[in-house]
Amino acid sequence: TPIDLGLNFDNSYANQLEGFYVACLGDAAPTPALVKLNTSLAKQIGLTQSEPSLLATALSGGHAPQGSAPLAQVYAGHQFGGYNPQLGDGRALLLGEVLDSTGQRLDLQLKGSGPTQFSRGGDGKAVIGAVLREYIVSEAMYALNIPSTRALAAVTTGETILRDNQQLPGAVLTRMASSHLRVGTFQYVAAQGDQDKVKQLADYAIARHYPEVQQSQQVYLDFLCAVRDKQAELIAKWLLVGFVHGVMNTDNMTISGETIDYGPCAFMDDYASYALFSSIDREGRYAYNNQPVIGQWNLARLAETLLPLIDDEQSVAIEKATQAVTDFWPQFKHHWITGMRAKLGLTTQEQGDEALAEQLFESMEGEQVDFTMLFRQLATDLETGANESENLFSHGEKFNQWRQSWLARLATEQLSISERVVQMNAVNPLYIARNHQVETAIEAAQRGDYQPFEKLTAILASPYTEQKGAEAYAGPAPAGFGPFVSYC
Ligand code: AMP
Ligand code: MG
Ligand code: MG
Repeated sequence: TPIDLGLNFDNSYANQLEGFYVACLGDAAPTPALVKLNTSLAKQIGLTQSEPSLLATALSGGHAPQGSAPLAQVYAGHQFGGYNPQLGDGRALLLGEVLDSTGQRLDLQLKGSGPTQFSRGGDGKAVIGAVLREYIVSEAMYALNIPSTRALAAVTTGETILRDNQQLPGAVLTRMASSHLRVGTFQYVAAQGDQDKVKQLADYAIARHYPEVQQSQQVYLDFLCAVRDKQAELIAKWLLVGFVHGVMNTDNMTISGETIDYGPCAFMDDYASYALFSSIDREGRYAYNNQPVIGQWNLARLAETLLPLIDDEQSVAIEKATQAVTDFWPQFKHHWITGMRAKLGLTTQEQGDEALAEQLFESMEGEQVDFTMLFRQLATDLETGANESENLFSHGEKFNQWRQSWLARLATEQLSISERVVQMNAVNPLYIARNHQVETAIEAAQRGDYQPFEKLTAILASPYTEQKGAEAYAGPAPAGFGPFVSYC
């Protein structure tokens, strides 16, 4: 009998988008065990099942919980710039959509639940390290007020999985998203050449994410602009915390504007404009500073799929879509400078603010300065009157010059130091998901010790608030940690 999770399922994707998925189940895990449940998220979505063994069975792939309609979504995508016409959920399973207590619709998806029709030779599985990494980082992003998929649960399957010549524990992540519609979903249907299907998908996406554009005279152009604005804001937020997504393929870019697919992502410790962690991104396509350019490039791919809906006259459609995509840049700049003003404690807007913010990053380049620590230290130095920030740089001459300009700019505003410090510390995190801490948590979990994982997730849930016993989590990696390399 199906397990009752107590969830209010309403599976609109399964019901309304036939042809955009295949119905299937994952593999039954030999000995599923619940290793983590996100209890606050569980409560929010009305998950009332509390029996760990039933949760583990229901959230490991081989079982369809009561009310669910498991399926693998189909999509296409540009991977590192090259078009792949057939991707799809190769190691994921959409159980369905649940309506939370506020009526919000959320996808419930398993990752690592076994092969599907779209696995392309892959095993469809996930290992505990990748699952916990996504759990930690996605929840950290949520706590940083950055739109993101969320992690509901982690389950070990009892299998061992071969990865990079290592036998590792198999695991399944349960993640939630406002949807898993991607740029690549549109690319898939557009490539089929069936305009009615593109319209069907667009109408579905609009109803689900941007109902406000339904009243517009130019619905599909406004839809494109709405996705553009959400992505511009999202990518600005990534840059403001030193986050590198790592694999911004068009199949990993959501229509909702949420961060998705935490594979080779990482937060930078020391600032570098070209920061890059992924072992497979040899040309730096998805390096830190390239992210807005790539976001815009991906939006152009979305725009192409919508052209026939934007205007019957192709040249008119192209002109309108091009303008919409071009306007990504001012949108991004707006969100970036708004965020930078807040990080620097500015409450007014001046012409020179953008240059001031950019000059700070220029002063940080090549200086081995910790991105996260610097912004907290700037606030602390305002309080004490010292310049400890300088000591975070290997040289700091450029920074000291910049600091004079910044202090002069602050002096143009009427705000007490204490108010300013409170404002800065409310947007500059003290704790981020530092690579060495994530690795420590994963290594311990691989030995069956989940304490470091529990401690890290607890600290990262309140990233702006100083916590007792958490000093080590606010500091840089030990000298021996070396450059961090991520694998998908
Ligand atoms: P990603 O880069 O993680 O978004 O994955 C790109 C594509 O490869 C998606 O279609 C995934 O479903 C698929 N994929 C990645 N890893 C596996 C795996 N271990 N088994 C099957 N499919 C996979
Ligand atoms: Mg993906
Ligand atoms: Mg340093």
